[in-house]
Amino acid sequence: MDLSLISKTADLLIASNHAIVLTGAGISTESGVPDFRSPGGIWEQYDPAMFFYERFLANPNEVWEALIDMHGNSDFTLWEAQPNQGHQALSYLEEIGIIKTLITQNVDNLHQKAGNKNVVEFHGNLLFAKCLNCGAKYGYQQVLKDVEHIFPPVCSCGGTLKPDAVFFGEAIPQKAMIESTKEANLCDLMLVIGTSAQVEPAASLPLIAKGMNNMLIGLANIPVMKTHCSVVEINREPTPLTGAVSDFLIQGSAGEILSQIAERIKEKKR
Ligand SMILES: [Zn+2]
Repeated sequence: MDLSLISKTADLLIASNHAIVLTGAGISTESGVPDFRSPGGIWEQYDPAMFFYERFLANPNEVWEALIDMHGNSDFTLWEAQPNQGHQALSYLEEIGIIKTLITQNVDNLHQKAGNKNVVEFHGNLLFAKCLNCGAKYGYQQVLKDVEHIFPPVCSCGGTLKPDAVFFGEAIPQKAMIESTKEANLCDLMLVIGTSAQVEPAASLPLIAKGMNNMLIGLANIPVMKTHCSVVEINREPTPLTGAVSDFLIQGSAGEILSQIAERIKEKKR
């Protein structure tokens, strides 16, 4: 862990006017939530083909059966997982007004559990189910209780309930898309944490932040606001952003690095 870069990031955060964060699976592995795509991840035990949107519409039962099975599978602690020191540090940085918005690709609800309020859920949230008819949301605990009586679970309006995570072939929620594009356009500092940022459209956000991609801004119909912006990467390994888009990479555990950054800021604010 490079302590001079930690200090530099703390200074950048303090000096920033509009700092935002983009997180991915790497921040949650220390909470015991495996990256879906990693060895031992969900896709090694469950067929990803089930989680295509069209297939869910055709056969919601098989997905709900798999989810109920996953919930009882001790390999997947996503539902019971607790925020780690990295999530806590980001919550603190929002609380003291430094971080304005947190955009996450994770569906594990851990930022919200840690106390972050302004969270843009890019890929939805697996701890909720949403009615495809009226849009009502239900907590997963309620749904699991209900399926003991009615299977597959249905909304009180009679509509089909779908896990509120974005499925393959399903569009990113438009509100999340527009909000995150606006934030990337507006920010003067972006922390990219625990993500290789290779999956579109999240992959475009650091480019928008850097003023290197204005296409999505055009689609969102907002004026380009881009001024100088620093992009800081916190990842275990270099990514395609390293040396090309990000100003620098702090390599190591997201939890340890973020808590050190938060400590520096606490000291400087004293
Ligand atoms: Zn409904």
